[in-house]
Amino acid sequence: MGKEYSDCYYCGGFVEERLIPREVRWKGQLLIFENVPIGVCTQCGEKVVKPKVAKEIDHLLEGNIQPTKTIQVPVYQYA
Ligand SMILES: [Zn+2]
Repeated sequence: MGKEYSDCYYCGGFVEERLIPREVRWKGQLLIFENVPIGVCTQCGEKVVKPKVAKEIDHLLEGNIQPTKTIQVPVYQYA
């Protein structure tokens, strides 16, 4: 098995793949994809998305897929 991710760009830590949610902005809307294979640095938590995965998400959205559920996202003001 080859190494899928190079070491973390920021801290040089080992990057392992996990299935985690990913936020995506699509046509002005905030969407969440669950169980996306994303590289996560085991030291600093930096996330690495493979171009192939990002492309696949775009592809799915262009195909007009239906969400499995809809959640409300709280919005806060900083000031
Ligand atoms: Zn790191």
